[in-house]
Amino acid sequence: MVECKYYSFYALARINDPELLYEALQQQIAPGHADEIEIEVFEHGDGRWQRLTPSGGLEPKLDPAIAQTLAQRFAGNDAPGWYYDAANDAWFCQYKPRTSKHFVLLVRCKDPDKLLEEDYLQFLFHFYCHQLQMLQGTYRDALTGLYNRRAFNEKLAQLLERNPDQQRRAINFSPTVFVMLDIDHFKAINDRLGHLFGDEVLLLLAELMTDSFRENDLLFRYGGEEFALVLMDITPEQAQQTLDRFREKIASHDFPTIERVTASIGYTHFDRNLTLDALIGQADSALYYAKSTGRNAVYGYPDLVEQGLIPLARSPRVETS
Ligand code: GH3
Ligand code: MG
Ligand code: MG
Repeated sequence: MVECKYYSFYALARINDPELLYEALQQQIAPGHADEIEIEVFEHGDGRWQRLTPSGGLEPKLDPAIAQTLAQRFAGNDAPGWYYDAANDAWFCQYKPRTSKHFVLLVRCKDPDKLLEEDYLQFLFHFYCHQLQMLQGTYRDALTGLYNRRAFNEKLAQLLERNPDQQRRAINFSPTVFVMLDIDHFKAINDRLGHLFGDEVLLLLAELMTDSFRENDLLFRYGGEEFALVLMDITPEQAQQTLDRFREKIASHDFPTIERVTASIGYTHFDRNLTLDALIGQADSALYYAKSTGRNAVYGYPDLVEQGLIPLARSPRVETS
């Protein structure tokens, strides 16, 4: 039997991202037993499984036996549960909070002659589920299920981090476009049909958003009827097309009771040399331009500046040393 003691909850309380679970489990749950127990976390995205690496990156190459189990057992099935898989001599655990990505945890004893205590395994899995659930409450907006403002502040700070060791996911996915979206005349929708109906529109719009963007893009409810997005690995031309298609999708969507809902969108290049305020300021000025020229439109800050339609912002840049 491998006996493990769980020592400290404090470090875990600071975890703010499911991607950091791996590290937390590894470091905190089995101190001194790292050689005996193997813990892995797999994430499902873009139609395939990938392994989370200790640095927060994603490794697409999987052990074939594990890949097979994941594909057979968990593809298209996100019912919570845990079970022993003889082919891999490992325990698999699945728990998927609403709107969060799909993760599977694997726990295995490296020494084939040893067994893991069932109590301990159960503890690990419960802990894992609890963490994911807690993350959900803290970092997700209750109405839309999108990331909330707090998640926005923390994730953007991470993405703008200049120290490569701290960049984590940014290593695998490059944030390239920053977007602000604001629903047009939302106050009138509320006034005419009631606040509850307004909530329904927010929820439906968030669903459209989740369906329209890629799994690695970050979607936030920035506040009220405003949303922010970080699009990964996309050129400015593709961004303009994607966002314009999304704008049309909203405008042509059949919202109940109301004939038409539209949104205005402003975006800018995700420049790591900018401060967060400057980044928001650029996207916001493109959004403001869309609002002031008729709404239901998409504009990019660099294009507007180039065409002389808005002035170049005197953006504070991060000091380079
Ligand atoms: P514009 O096209 O210029 O953006 O006009 P607007 O009416 O959308 O913008 P304004 O800022 O005047 O109004 C935003 C409204 O959004 C006012 C506020 O009551 C409403 N709102 C903010 N949060 C919520 C929410 O969670 N639910 C609902 N139903 N309404 C909200
Ligand atoms: Mg607004
Ligand atoms: Mg609005």
